[in-house]
Amino acid sequence: MKKEISKSEGYVCPKCSCNNYEVDSIKVINGNILSFKKGPSFKSMTCSKCKYTEFYKE
Ligand SMILES: [Zn+2]
Repeated sequence: MKKEISKSEGYVCPKCSCNNYEVDSIKVINGNILSFKKGPSFKSMTCSKCKYTEFYKE
């Protein structure tokens, strides 16, 4: 699972207005979160301050 921390690339947390966040790429099979398998791929963005997380389908 790839993990990286980005800063100031347009994301602003809707909860605390922080613009630091962590990005994870995940894939989902039958409701379970697995990596490197077939299935829908999602990107998660987690606020580094309050940990609010949003998911985007890739
Ligand atoms: Zn936040």
